[in-house]
Amino acid sequence: MNDLILNNEQLTGQDDSHIHWLDEHTGIHFEMITAWQSLCDSAKVAGFDLIIASGYRSFTRQLSIWNRKFSGLLPVKNRQGENVNIDTMTDTEIVNAILLYSALPGASRHHWGCDIDIYASNFLPEDQQLQLEPWEYQEKGPFHSLSQWLSLNAHHYGFYLPYDEYRGGVAIEPWHLSYHPLAKQCERQLSIELLNKVICSNQIKGKVAIASQITEIFNKFINNVGSISHE
Ligand SMILES: [Zn+2]
Repeated sequence: MNDLILNNEQLTGQDDSHIHWLDEHTGIHFEMITAWQSLCDSAKVAGFDLIIASGYRSFTRQLSIWNRKFSGLLPVKNRQGENVNIDTMTDTEIVNAILLYSALPGASRHHWGCDIDIYASNFLPEDQQLQLEPWEYQEKGPFHSLSQWLSLNAHHYGFYLPYDEYRGGVAIEPWHLSYHPLAKQCERQLSIELLNKVICSNQIKGKVAIASQITEIFNKFINNVGSISHE
């Protein structure tokens, strides 16, 4: 297979050689630079200063988030935004609770470089910090007009919202954009076998619980996403 856009290490966040760094924190896939710029230019004309809150994320970073959540060092939230008490839960229950908002290390779409979390800096109230919570993008939230603009225009530049609605797996993420020409190939390439290998060879908390239900996790939280509209 020489038509792969990413090798398996890149696909799972263990190699960042496919990443172009816009600044020291923010990286995107080299082949997305032009499309991202076009989206920004068009958004600017419509009045939105688009900013990437989070672009590329490495396996190491996702692993750190995962392990801290599993250990109770970072809060685990339910769909109502309330903290979940993981002390009384089984490893399998904790794994499922974390997956609502945090991807399994190796399976984050942010490893790919073609997935980004965005907002409009000129719509963020001065006294408010960006939360990346759904209400900010919904009616009466500061980025509601951005959400409406994206749903009408993002696909013209190849972008779409894989977490546009709750599908029983990952919670709604109206800030998360995917660049379809790259993301569809990454989706096709990521397999249960590859994920299993990555999970088994790393120090991830809940490893046994993850490995024993990897197919269910794959179908519920990883494969279970929206696609680009073709109207
Ligand atoms: Zn995201």
